[in-house]
Amino acid sequence: MYFKTGVILASFALTYVLLVFFATAWWQALPLAVVLALATVAIGFNVMHDANHEAYSDRPWVNQAMAMSLDLVGGSSYFWRWKHNVFHHTFVNVIGYDTDINLAGLGRLTPHHPRAWIHRWQHLYCWLLYGVMVIKWHLFDDFRLAVTAQMGGHRFPRPRGAQWVALFAGKVVFLTLAFAIPLALHPLWVVAGIYAVVASTTGIMLAVVFQLAHCVEEAGFPLDDGAGRMEKPWAVHQVETSVDFARHSRLACWLLGGLNFQIEHHLFSRICHVNYPAIAPIVEQTCREFGVSYHYNPTFAAALRSHYRWLRALGRGDAIALPS
Ligand SMILES: [Zn+2]
Repeated sequence: MYFKTGVILASFALTYVLLVFFATAWWQALPLAVVLALATVAIGFNVMHDANHEAYSDRPWVNQAMAMSLDLVGGSSYFWRWKHNVFHHTFVNVIGYDTDINLAGLGRLTPHHPRAWIHRWQHLYCWLLYGVMVIKWHLFDDFRLAVTAQMGGHRFPRPRGAQWVALFAGKVVFLTLAFAIPLALHPLWVVAGIYAVVASTTGIMLAVVFQLAHCVEEAGFPLDDGAGRMEKPWAVHQVETSVDFARHSRLACWLLGGLNFQIEHHLFSRICHVNYPAIAPIVEQTCREFGVSYHYNPTFAAALRSHYRWLRALGRGDAIALPS
């Protein structure tokens, strides 16, 4: 994990320096912008995700320090822990709680959302929408959360004391890196254009990998009883709403920070992701033994096709037979 973190953070720093201080032509800036997005996504998948789950290290201060890598790349780790660890992990794929399946009416990701005419084309435009989501996250969402302390209609505690300081410092560092330093060296339209490329590429990669685990044909979309209670036990709910993919791809295992092992991640989110390939066959075997449906797509491409078909079916309003 330390080696991997070193490689990823060094790639991020090197690419940033080359892009901001050395690139002088569009054909240098564009590929660097894409690599910077890749490094940003790699920080998200491999470093901040584990750290915010306290799975990066046995030492709390190491987890806290690594969790702040999210603030470095533009998101607040404080709000993330509420959005992801609490609402998403507790209520996977449950409308009204899991904000990952809420595209503000612009996309229909669950059969329990009402269908609108625009959704007919969502299998084509959702990918671009995923790109815009990160720009919204950077420039609007965290500030809105700081003011309202409401997430998907649920209240959560505002940051306090040192948490405010960390939140504010994170925003200052990110905005300085993303805008202040580049604007001192380049015209506004260049900075805005390159920012849009980095942020939207980050958003597409980030959203696609998260969607392949929960918004595919094989995943379940249970409802709560209206008071936040689920019919099935917690562990069964976690397994049935998550789908693994590309379990045997060494590249996917290294790059995706265990997000291709979401079943294992949702059951054991405080175990570091490097252990998931070893745990997965045991979890699968146990699920089969107890009659719990365990789903995975063999490759990244298969998962991507399943997400595409899911978007198309929901957009058209096809009758959906949900896995029981
Ligand atoms: Zn997680």
